[in-house]
Amino acid sequence: MTDGANHQSGSCLCGAVSFHFAGGPFPLTWCHCSMCRKFHGHAMPAIAVTSDTIKWSDGAQDHIAWFVSSEKGRRGSCRRCGSALFYREEGEKHIAIVAGAIDDPTNFVVDDHIYAADKGDWYELPDDGLPHHEGDWPTPPSRPRP
Ligand SMILES: [Zn+2]
Ligand SMILES: [Zn+2]
Repeated sequence: MTDGANHQSGSCLCGAVSFHFAGGPFPLTWCHCSMCRKFHGHAMPAIAVTSDTIKWSDGAQDHIAWFVSSEKGRRGSCRRCGSALFYREEGEKHIAIVAGAIDDPTNFVVDDHIYAADKGDWYELPDDGLPHHEGDWPTPPSRPRP
């Protein structure tokens, strides 16, 4: 690409759900809540992308299964391979994308941890000098919670 924008690509494991987007650098939040840990197998490292900037491959959106995980939140996975990929809230302009779906090189900057008090008892938070919020962000974020 020659326009100077940061272009990122991502996909599920089987490739049925693939997409790309531009922008960034994207701050990355680790969410340690129990729902993220159930859905992703561990804390969820996610970035938030404005959903109407995402370009989907043909048929990609038909391959996403959306599970309603709470009153507002939906979690997306690939119908074919099961990769857990997305979180979005009703009426929200952003979609949270799990970092593992994004191809290198990423442009991520790890920003903070949320729901630290809800983390699994088998691991410790890294001594990374970043904010470790016990629950949600203390002030409304400019991006959705993962
Ligand atoms: Zn897949
Ligand atoms: Zn979470």
